[in-house]
Amino acid sequence: MKTAVVCGAGGFIGHHLCDLLKTEGYFVRGVDIKEQEFAPSPADEFALLDLRDPDSCRQAVRIGGAAADEVYQLAADMGGMGFIHSAECEIMTNSALVNIHMINAASEAGVSRYFFSSSACVYRDQEEGDVYLSEEDAYPAFPDNEYGWEKLYAERMALSFARNRGIEVRIARFQNCFGPYGTWRGGREKAPAAICRKVAMANDGGEIEVWGDGSALRVYTYVPDLCGGVFALMQSDVTEPTNIGSDEIVSVDQLVTTVADVAGKSIEIRHVEGPVGVQARYHSGDRIKSTGWRAQHTLRDGIEATYPWIEEQVRTTAMSA
Ligand code: NAD
Repeated sequence: MKTAVVCGAGGFIGHHLCDLLKTEGYFVRGVDIKEQEFAPSPADEFALLDLRDPDSCRQAVRIGGAAADEVYQLAADMGGMGFIHSAECEIMTNSALVNIHMINAASEAGVSRYFFSSSACVYRDQEEGDVYLSEEDAYPAFPDNEYGWEKLYAERMALSFARNRGIEVRIARFQNCFGPYGTWRGGREKAPAAICRKVAMANDGGEIEVWGDGSALRVYTYVPDLCGGVFALMQSDVTEPTNIGSDEIVSVDQLVTTVADVAGKSIEIRHVEGPVGVQARYHSGDRIKSTGWRAQHTLRDGIEATYPWIEEQVRTTAMSA
């Protein structure tokens, strides 16, 4: 039986990735500084470890005394645009420490394959109608925020270990991802979860606030699709950083309309000032598609699964308050 360690398994994508790896027949060890807030982990075992510490990383990559076959490194100090713009020091310190120590520990232990979750935030800003950026267009580098710079550094760190220490490395640049069991309040939530929460809290015919003018263009990828892409990349021979995201490009206002439609509510949008991030994100999916992977869900499919979960969280939280 193949063994896998998922770092960040107490978080959103890590939790779903554990689920997928179990389905694929792996023995899975989840590792995180905290447990999943919303659901029991599907992992076979779960270790609470602070991966900023090198000894914890050494402990993390071993299962029953042997190096894991595969390590999936998703642990990061992470949040939506509000968090990314206010917690630059934490991101640059904590995520960098985790990434430095994890690749060192995996390589020392003899892990065969290492996955690193990078982000579309490594790319420069784009405008509507701009060309689709390919993975090479990350250079010359000009990310919009420190989170993107840290991801670029960590990509280069992992790639240097692949070149010099013989560990197989796979790197995905994730587009925005959404789905159940993701943070939906508190400041670290991303746009789809925040919009679902606001719509769930609004009355039919009510109004919600949306940061910016609503025209920013985004790709939102439903979490089972993203995890499928990670798995396809790990099985592949593609060694360069690889974009993973759906092909559907929508404006922030279109996201709100989709959520309102799924909720069955008529919602007015009030645009307010806020940290929007880049204006547009258009990335080529050719490289990940070369593995045979395709997104299976539309934005609406994903919202149909996500909105009821967030609506339930809003309702149960209100009842227990
Ligand atoms: P998340 O915040 O839900 O999960 C990250 C997990 O890392 C958390 O559970 C957190 O506790 C854990 N962690 C942080 N510091 C740690 C430490 N010192 N030791 C151990 N664990 C620690 O985030 P997510 O949305 O699941 O994202 C997973 C990965 O994907 C991250 O690397 C993120 O940067 C990347 N990513 C996510 C998105 C997205 O839309 N969600 C987009 C691009 C990239």
